[in-house]
Amino acid sequence: MSLTIAYDPGNIFAKIIAGDIPCARVYEDDRVISFMDAFPQSKGHTLVVPKVPVCNLFDIADDDLANLIVQTRRIARAVREALAPDGLRLIQFNGEAAGQTVFHLHMHILPIWTDQPLARHGGGMADMEVLKATAARIADKL
Ligand code: 5GP
Repeated sequence: MSLTIAYDPGNIFAKIIAGDIPCARVYEDDRVISFMDAFPQSKGHTLVVPKVPVCNLFDIADDDLANLIVQTRRIARAVREALAPDGLRLIQFNGEAAGQTVFHLHMHILPIWTDQPLARHGGGMADMEVLKATAARIADKL
């Protein structure tokens, strides 16, 4: 699978955007949706997803990308305020070879605590009620 692939409208994030499958939502407007990663690498692992149907960084229009990064920082600030991590990574994968597993562009907000190792990318599934409680704490700071 290369970096120039056709967008699959049946991908999991398209289904979340459409409201067809549940998520622990942090924020939503007409351009982005943010929710907890179901297989978190750390507590508070949050995704920010533009609603435009694009596979990766190379496919999104400048204006939508600008909005995405501004919203990502806004939500990252709320994560910082809610959870007080020691550090925070923003991660974004392009292409299967780079580790992308869902082919709808998204930003990872990954809080880091110095004494807590990260779980592996796409590891164990978290409890939905726990994710919803964390999402509510973050949303409260928006
Ligand atoms: P990627 O590897 O494409 O950058 O990241 C996709 C992310 O989506 C992974 O971190 C994975 O844990 C997460 N993910 C996969 N399926 C689901 C799902 O059904 N719901 C949620 N909330 N996250 C998912």
